[in-house]
Amino acid sequence: MQQITVLGATGSIGGSTLDVIARHPGRYRAFALTAHSRLDELARLCWRFKPRYAVVASAQDADTLQQQLDGLDCEVLHGEQGLCRVASADEVDSVMAAIVGAAGLAPTLAAVRAGKKVLLANKEALVMSGALFMQAVQEHGATLLPIDSEHNAIFQCLPCNYHDGLPQTGVRRLLLTASGGPFRETALHELAGVTPAQACAHPNWSMGQKISVDSATMMNKGLELIEACWLFAARPAQVEVVVHPQSVIHSLVDYVDGSVLAQLGNPDMRTPIAHALAWPQRIDSGVQPLDLYQLARMDFFEPDPEKFVCLRLAREAAEQGGTAPAILNAANEVAVAGFLGGQTGFLQIAQIIERTLEQLASRAADSLEAILDADKQAREVAGQWLARMS
Ligand code: NAD
Ligand code: MG
Repeated sequence: MQQITVLGATGSIGGSTLDVIARHPGRYRAFALTAHSRLDELARLCWRFKPRYAVVASAQDADTLQQQLDGLDCEVLHGEQGLCRVASADEVDSVMAAIVGAAGLAPTLAAVRAGKKVLLANKEALVMSGALFMQAVQEHGATLLPIDSEHNAIFQCLPCNYHDGLPQTGVRRLLLTASGGPFRETALHELAGVTPAQACAHPNWSMGQKISVDSATMMNKGLELIEACWLFAARPAQVEVVVHPQSVIHSLVDYVDGSVLAQLGNPDMRTPIAHALAWPQRIDSGVQPLDLYQLARMDFFEPDPEKFVCLRLAREAAEQGGTAPAILNAANEVAVAGFLGGQTGFLQIAQIIERTLEQLASRAADSLEAILDADKQAREVAGQWLARMS
C-alpha cells in the first residue's frame, strides 16, 4: 500500500489525483490532504479518504476543521510547517505537489529533501528555484515525475537514459504543444477589454483560475518552457512551442534521425497523474480512450509573438538565468491576482511583468535566501506597477 500526501487537495489537480486514488483502494492510501481555503470541501474529502493528517492555513482554521472531523482519526496541522511535515513524513511514499504558485516551494522542496517520489504539478516551484531544486533531487535521491501534461508527455517519449544529456541520446528538440488558450483567435486590440471570466474559460482543460489566466496570456507555456529546461537539462533554444488547438498531442520529442515521438490522449489530467502515480507500471485512470475518428484532424500553428508577449518574456528570463525566472514568476502572480481582482486589464499583465524584469537585476540563484529575496522584491515592484496601472 502506497501512502500519498496530496498538497493542494481541494484544487483541480488535487481533485483529479483523489479520483485516481479512489479507483485503486488496494494500492494507494491518502496519508495527508492539505488546503488553503474551502475548509468545508477539505472536511468532506477527509471524511471520504480518511487521511492521518490534514493541513490548513492558520491555527484558527485548524481548530474549526478539527471540530468538523470529530470522530475521525485525523490530526489537523497548520501553516508552512505543517505542510513541510506531511510532505516529508517517514510514512509517505509519494507527494503530489499541487499547490498553486510560490506557496508550494517550501513543502515541495521538503518532499525532495526527504527523498520522496515527487509528482510535480506546481511548476512555479521549479521555475523559481530550478538549479537548487534539481541539485536537491540528485543529492537526496528523490524521484521527480512531471505531472504537467506536456512534460509528462516528453518524459514518456524520451529514452530512459535522457539524464546523460539530450544531444548524447540523439534528441534534437523538445516540442511543447500549447492550445493557444481562449484568445487564440481574438484580435490584439480586443484583448484590452477581456474579462477574468472570459480568460478563465479554457477551451479544452478545466483548471484553477491562476493557471487558466496563464494559459490565456500564454505565460503558462513560458513557465513550462523554463520547467522543461530544468527537468530535461535542455537549453531554451532546444525547446520550441507549437500551438495545437485540439490539445490531443500533449508534446513531442524530435530525434536527430528524423523520428518524432509524440504522446496523445484526451485532455484529462488523470492520464499524467495515473502515469506518474504508478510509474513504471500503468493503471486505469478513468480517462476515455482516444477516438481518432471523432478527432478527425489536428492543426498546428506558430504562436503570435505580438499577442503573447509573456512567452517572449519567459524565454528571455530562461536565457538570462539566475533569479530572472523567480522575478518573472512573482511579477506574474501579482499581475494575475490584480487582473482576477478587477484592478487591472488583461494586457497590463505582460506590461507589469516586463517593467518588473527591467527594474530588477537578475542575481545568482544559488541559495533559497537569494531566491526568496528576489521573489519578495519582485512582488513589491510588481505591486507598485499594478497600482500605477489600475
Ligand atoms: P487550484 O487553484 O485549483 O488549486 C490550488 C490548490 O492549492 C488548492 O488546494 C488551494 O487550497 C491550494 N493553495 C492555494 N494557495 C495556497 C497557499 N498559499 N498555501 C497552501 N496551499 C495553497 O490550482 P490547480 O489548477 O489545481 O493547479 C495547481 C498546480 O498545478 C499549479 O501550479 C498549476 O500550474 C499546476 N498544473 C495544473 C494543471 C491543471 O489542469 N489544473 C495542469 C498542469 C499543471
Ligand atoms: Mg501544461
